[in-house]
Amino acid sequence: MSDTRNNLLASITEEVTECRHELHQNPATSYEEVFASDLIARKLTEWGIEFERGWAKTGIVATIHGQSTSSGKRIGFRGDIDALDIIEASGVAHASKVPGKMHACGHDGHTSMLLGTAKYLSETRNFNGTVHLFFQPAEEGGGGAYRMIEEGLFDKYPVDSVYAVHNWPYAPRGYVGIKGGPIMASSDELVIKVTGKGGHAAMPHECIDPVVIASEIVLALQTIVARTVDPSDSCVISITNFNAGTGANNIIPTEAVLHGTVRGFSNKVRDIAEKRIKEVVEGIAHAHGAKGTAEYIRNYEPTLNDPAQAALCADVAQTLFGSDNVHTEFPPSMGAEDFGAMLQKKPGCYAIFGQGEPDDKDSPHNFGLHHPKYDFNDKIIPMIISYFSGITEKSLPL
Ligand SMILES: [Zn+2]
Ligand SMILES: [Zn+2]
Repeated sequence: MSDTRNNLLASITEEVTECRHELHQNPATSYEEVFASDLIARKLTEWGIEFERGWAKTGIVATIHGQSTSSGKRIGFRGDIDALDIIEASGVAHASKVPGKMHACGHDGHTSMLLGTAKYLSETRNFNGTVHLFFQPAEEGGGGAYRMIEEGLFDKYPVDSVYAVHNWPYAPRGYVGIKGGPIMASSDELVIKVTGKGGHAAMPHECIDPVVIASEIVLALQTIVARTVDPSDSCVISITNFNAGTGANNIIPTEAVLHGTVRGFSNKVRDIAEKRIKEVVEGIAHAHGAKGTAEYIRNYEPTLNDPAQAALCADVAQTLFGSDNVHTEFPPSMGAEDFGAMLQKKPGCYAIFGQGEPDDKDSPHNFGLHHPKYDFNDKIIPMIISYFSGITEKSLPL
């Protein structure tokens, strides 16, 4: 990279790092990210970058045209802007000022690096085509990506491909993970109800005990993973809540309600899980004279990288950071990410950027995502701006 470009990158990094700290102090969750939205709009206005507000309430789309747009090509970058309901315990100078809310997933960093990319691309414009930057609300369970798509994001901004990253405290700073195929799992929700017949705990023969039946269901559900899903496919079924009874020790309750989550990397696995869970719940309940129902709610799609786009991104990253630092073989995460929704519509790539500081054991950058002591590592901001700009220049060459 030339000195001019390095200086530009350094000055932009300094400016957006300040933004990051401001965002970190003023976190908001799902569709309430007014502070972030205002800050993004203020910065884009200051820099003379065109943008449109009101996507999925607090979302923003910024647009930057290259030196030429004769290629007719467009690409998109997405950054999420929302925080979490966590009481911050990081002890950093820029800690949250909003009680009970915290940027514990580093979306403050994602917002800042996307802002930095906007500034960098608008200053350099070293590409032929158009770049759209999607500042997306409500990633943490609110499905902001889905909502932007439903509102017509890709009709109004028909990008050819779309890209995003996540900071990764589980790997050291410098590590970049880019692979084709699944990188994050789908996340579906389960609500299971077993209705029996309540009564006196000393007279079980007069009752149909939903606690015993639901217990059998919990164990039997694990056989779906072990015996039905192809062993070479990944699937997780976790029952996370088991509710029955009133607190009294002499009453058999009428109903037991289970909640859980199902994770996988393909719609094939989701279809099998949904079908078998319903059969197991209904069948076991029926065998005991009770009624069992399973509601299977499809939430986030798996995040599936397009192999050709992943190869392009890995190539860009290897040029920038050296091939030793760019990893293309690693196990996908069972976590979920609503960027998967965008990748169902457009080819693209989701990459992970290590942010851990192994030499500094007490660093807040080493704590896992969603931990109250976690903090985004500002040192990876210039890496990601370079990466996004690199993808732009490679996909939209002059
Ligand atoms: Zn998160
Ligand atoms: Zn996140």
